[in-house]
Amino acid sequence: MSMNNQGRPSAPSETAITSERATFTGNKALAMEEPLLFEIGRMDVCGVDLDEAEDFAPALGSHARKAVPDLPALTEPETMRHYVRLSSKNYAIDAGLYPLGSCTMKHNPRLNEKMARLPGFGDVHPLQPLSTVTGAVELIGELAHWLVTMTGMSAVAMSPKAGAHGELCGMMAIKAAHQAAGRDPKIVLVPESAHGTNPATAALLGYKVVSIEAREDGTVDPAAVKARIKEHEGDIAGIMLTNPNTCGLFERDIIAIAEAIHAADGYFYCDGANFNAIVGKARPGDLGVDAMHINLHKTFSTPHGGGGPGAGPVVLSERLAPFAPLPFLRKGEGGIEWVETDAELKDGEQPFGRMTAFHGQMGMYVRALAYMKSHGADGLKQASEDAVLNANYVRVGLQDLMSLPFGQRWCMHEVLFDDSFLKETGVTTLDFAKAMIDEGYHPMTMYFPLVVHGAMLIEPTESESRSSLDLFIATMRDLVMSAQKGETDRFKGAPFHAPRGRLDETRAARNPVLKWERPAATAVQPQAAE
Ligand SMILES: *Cc1c(COP(=O)(O)O)cnc(C)c1O
Repeated sequence: MSMNNQGRPSAPSETAITSERATFTGNKALAMEEPLLFEIGRMDVCGVDLDEAEDFAPALGSHARKAVPDLPALTEPETMRHYVRLSSKNYAIDAGLYPLGSCTMKHNPRLNEKMARLPGFGDVHPLQPLSTVTGAVELIGELAHWLVTMTGMSAVAMSPKAGAHGELCGMMAIKAAHQAAGRDPKIVLVPESAHGTNPATAALLGYKVVSIEAREDGTVDPAAVKARIKEHEGDIAGIMLTNPNTCGLFERDIIAIAEAIHAADGYFYCDGANFNAIVGKARPGDLGVDAMHINLHKTFSTPHGGGGPGAGPVVLSERLAPFAPLPFLRKGEGGIEWVETDAELKDGEQPFGRMTAFHGQMGMYVRALAYMKSHGADGLKQASEDAVLNANYVRVGLQDLMSLPFGQRWCMHEVLFDDSFLKETGVTTLDFAKAMIDEGYHPMTMYFPLVVHGAMLIEPTESESRSSLDLFIATMRDLVMSAQKGETDRFKGAPFHAPRGRLDETRAARNPVLKWERPAATAVQPQAAE
């Protein structure tokens, strides 16, 4: 395969299907090749006409640049085309079904976007005095009210910037609570099906992670929790548990688990990433949860992916609320109360500090509240029910052909398959997922959770229609039957129709090329600055 100087394929892959005629440009109809800005840019053009600079004496002294910087320049139309072509390469929920389990890729209503762009919300600066942004503050307070009401909790720290950041916030509150009680327990229990951010968070705070095995049915056995507590008696800081769990199953013994942890003086951190399955149906506060992050970008429909902005407010129980970071919002007699600074603290409140300098992601807050208010309480409950229904529709549509590691039982908002249906076909989970790309589907979450072999975690979300699910199921069935008939050519080396074929992902991860270097042969001699 011919590669450019950055180690990226510069021509259609050799595995491209043979019936396809190579084109002169390398473009495939309207799927266009797009080099880097540095590769198409030149030194001798400029997108704007600038006046000649008047004579001036720079005050930079010896820091003044000796040579002009080697930056690419493009004309305005070239620049536009570059970015518009790049934007069209992005697979998005607006383009098709995005069944990425655990990520809740649901439709992002345009109403949210319209609201988030209102100048009073879109243009606020984090350093503006509170008195100039009272509307924004009121909106955050109203969102906080919805969050504590929906979860049945006492307070909420709004500022964490994503789920993982929320985990850190919640666990820091737990640590502060232990310290305030003069304790210093060292162990955090984490089920083996947990998302990697859970053990990472505990480890970052200096805790030792003790894993709890899943039982036959994919859930956590309170007896196993009790056994671990006994082994580490007096040293349990808490548990980090996801519910519904990452196998798409509701932890039915959650109350018994919470009681066991509380009896051991520990706290219950719930990973709330899967809240979409239970909004309006169950309140984490009633299940014994002490702290839980809510991924606003998942459950409440703000666009995510590609590392885009998120928000991970953390709701806290009465026991943990006094340790919330500033600023936080608590349930007061006249509604939600803001606590901005130490001066507003009540007796016993001892925040562990601040998670971020500002209040958080305004755009995310507006979108989440717009979503909540446009659905209403009944609509939110309906969305959860539809999400669970859709996942079960997919499960039932595929369970005779694909293998369910925990049997044919009801799942929550996502359905987990393993790779035993691919046994002896020579096709792996990875091959299968790549062949889905050829069919125009973003693959499901693969190889997570780790508790099953070759995991495939499918989350359709509530926003897919029945016809969309039917087509997805039919496509999956066609792929499974093709694999089982031994048509390995369809899988090995897939995707064949994507602009790039199968990439060497290991090499890309191990030796990422993160910086563009001008190849020696094309070196431009930067002119010395006058
Ligand atoms: C997404 C997710 C997280 C992390 O949330 P981010 O917002 O991506 O930081 C944690 N746990 C589970 C189960 C998740 O799905």
